[in-house]
Amino acid sequence: MKNNFRVAIVGGGIGGVALARSLDRLGIDCHLFERASTFGEIGAGVQITPNAVKVLQALGLESELARVGFLPEAMVGFNWQSGQELFRTPLRDTCPDLFGAAFYHVHRADLHAMLAKDIPAERVTLGLACTGLRQEGDKPVVCFEDGSEFAADLVVGADGVRSVIRASLWGDEPASYTGHMCWRALVPVQYHPLPYVTPTSAFWMGPKGHVVTYYVKGGAMVNIVAVNENHDWIEESWTVKSEQAELIGAFTGWNENLIRLFQDTDPDQIYKWGLFDRDPMTRWSQDTVTLLGDAAHPMLPFLSQGAAMAIEDGYVLAEALDTFGTDQLRAALEAYEAERRPRTARVQLEARERGRTYHLSSPEALRERDLAFQREQADNPNAVGIKAEWVYQYDARTCRDRFHTASTLVVAS
Ligand SMILES: Cc1cc2nc3c(=O)[nH]c(=O)nc-3n(C[C@H](O)[C@H](O)[C@H](O)COP(=O)(O)OP(=O)(O)OC[C@H]3O[C@@H](n4cnc5c(N)ncnc54)[C@H](O)[C@@H]3O)c2cc1C
Repeated sequence: MKNNFRVAIVGGGIGGVALARSLDRLGIDCHLFERASTFGEIGAGVQITPNAVKVLQALGLESELARVGFLPEAMVGFNWQSGQELFRTPLRDTCPDLFGAAFYHVHRADLHAMLAKDIPAERVTLGLACTGLRQEGDKPVVCFEDGSEFAADLVVGADGVRSVIRASLWGDEPASYTGHMCWRALVPVQYHPLPYVTPTSAFWMGPKGHVVTYYVKGGAMVNIVAVNENHDWIEESWTVKSEQAELIGAFTGWNENLIRLFQDTDPDQIYKWGLFDRDPMTRWSQDTVTLLGDAAHPMLPFLSQGAAMAIEDGYVLAEALDTFGTDQLRAALEAYEAERRPRTARVQLEARERGRTYHLSSPEALRERDLAFQREQADNPNAVGIKAEWVYQYDARTCRDRFHTASTLVVAS
């Protein structure tokens, strides 16, 4: 390990394990602390867009991703009621050429397992919640609920939207409820594809709500994310159960194919929660402590980028530490933030804006939006209906060149 340098990672979600794997690949020592007693993710899908796939390729995970993932034919926008196609962007046959990598749908547990599988057991502590931080000399010390502590050279808060590390650095300001309620469910598929679910990333856009459906587990399940506007506050959690009738009732009048899919959900596996986000931060790091993933930039899931951004963050932070050298830690953290903050802030803000576009409610506004989709598609058949080309084009692997130039300047000065 490099110069006995040690990173403490607080939080073993997708961002935490992506960082651990990225550090391990570069021979940088780390220890990961997770409050849950087992590693894992809830039963739900996640869209892994080309920008995140490029990082997974760099981490040697592409064949595993191809094994467990599902390649959607296209991203398709549908009218919530009539089922009329509003846009159709080819994905399976075009993403590798246009964006340098494929677009996958995966089950979250599969994604987490592939990122976590090579982290040595002795570098992971499960079932231990962090309660805060203290400083001893120039080293940050992580404090835990059982009174134990861990001193490190760098602490990374990868502890999600309610981050204890973020609160220790920047104060305990709660994330704000966005006025969006979300249901999540999986539907087992006996005969693929189901006649009423296309093998696409399907966006159903309706008044004050939208529904996204896609296959995961190689087509063996359909993932549902159903969002509607509801200003009653709901606890943010993965585990608040909902009734099937409540889900169906919230989407009364929507297309019969969607309602049929809702009726096929396992009634014991329907979850609901409120969606929270924050404004972009102007700094993430203080001295030798920093943040990544939802701890730094919680966002609405409307561009399908929260996990993707956490994976990119983990990879880029490891590259910064390796390129600058652990003796230039502050310069490395500055470079990490300079690379990541503008991008993640733009995604946070654009995800909010997508909520408005997806949920328009007046017939005139809907007509205008749908005509704009048609015009864009006529001009460019590959135009991404949700306008995410700039997100997919980014290639985190190129950050090493930028860091190398910057680190040469630091050394020269
Ligand atoms: C409905 C919905 C759909 C989504 N769809 C997509 C999608 O298609 N594509 C995409 O890229 N993203 C998507 N996302 C976003 C994505 O799920 C999150 O952004 C991502 O999981 C964030 O990862 P993270 O590791 O930063 O945080 P988390 O996944 O929240 O992980 C934080 C970890 O830290 C642990 N922890 C918390 N506090 C402590 C503590 N005090 N001590 C120790 N451990 C602690 C937690 O137990 C958890 O394991 C979606 C989100 C939602 C809500």
